[in-house]
Order: sequence, then C-alpha cells, then structure tokens
Amino acid sequence: MIEQVFSFQSGDALLIIDVQVDFCPGGALPIAEGDQVVPVLNQWIDAASQAGIPVYLSRDWHPKHHPSFAEEGGPWPVHCLQDTPGAAFHPGLHKPPEAEIITKGTRFDQDQNSAFDQTGLAVHLRKAGIRRLIVGGLAEDVCVLATVLDARAEGFAVSVIAAGTRPVTPAGGASARQKMTTAGAELL
Ligand SMILES: [Zn+2]
Repeated sequence: MIEQVFSFQSGDALLIIDVQVDFCPGGALPIAEGDQVVPVLNQWIDAASQAGIPVYLSRDWHPKHHPSFAEEGGPWPVHCLQDTPGAAFHPGLHKPPEAEIITKGTRFDQDQNSAFDQTGLAVHLRKAGIRRLIVGGLAEDVCVLATVLDARAEGFAVSVIAAGTRPVTPAGGASARQKMTTAGAELL
C-alpha cells in the first residue's frame, strides 16, 4: 500500500508521463517492460485519488509529419499518431475521469519531450497551489527525465517513482537517475 510508504501532503500532484500503447511491448516504439509500470502507477493513482491529490497525465500526440520521426530526419520511428490506437493511454491504466491531460509533441518544427515544454503547465500548477510533483511513466531517460529537470528548474519539489518508470536503454536509465538526483529530485 502506497499510504504505508508515502504520505501525500496538500500541494502534491501526481504527474504520469506518456503511459501510451505505442511505448509498451507490441507498440510502435516499445520500451522494454513498459507495460509493467501500469500496475505500479495504478496504486499511486488510486491512493492519490483517495487522498484528494490531483492527477495529471501527459501524452505524446504527434501529427503525421512530426520532426521526431525518422522519415523527417528525427531519431524515432513513427509513434503516437494523433487519434490512433497507439496514441491511446494504456487500457489498463486507472485514468481518473477528473484527471487533467497534458498534450505535447504537436508541433511541426520541434519535439517536446517535457510535459512543461510550451504547455503552460508550470503556470497552471502554481495557480493550483502545487509545490511537489510525484512523477512516473515512460520513458525514464527521455520524457520523464526532461519533465523532471524542467520541474526542478521551475522550482517544484520532485519525487520519482523508481518502480513506475522504465528507460529506453539501461545505460540511459542509469544516466537519467544520476541527472535527476543531481537536479535535486528524490527517487522513491
Ligand atoms: Zn514522440
């Protein structure tokens, strides 16, 4: 039980990054064990909802000619195309009906790995009185890392759910954890 290992405080929010079909095994850009974050994050989502802590879910949401795609000169295969099944949240994720969705990766001129990148999220969170973010999701060494670093730069306290994230590569994961802790994030 999450409540036994972590106490939510007023000013906390749960921020779940890109737990989408395409990032899980069988998807277009599968991350090893990506689907294994779902039961872990569900425990956190359920506990947060019960404690009245707001839940935010980000999603990668690309147009057909997104610059991150290999055919456009980017590093990744086509993934998370808007309105396709691959862009949907993992069907097993306990998405609360009241959760706020952060859509990113819609620009034609650049990728947005961080949920803070040109989304206005920091402004919204401050307005909502949020001071600490508990973060999990995919991928640890790409969008989770970018989001955590931006959250720290924006002055939010950050706790990362270590069991609730997976990297694209193991080396990338190790490097990401180092960067996140160096930036002042706590690993749970
Ligand atoms: Zn993407």
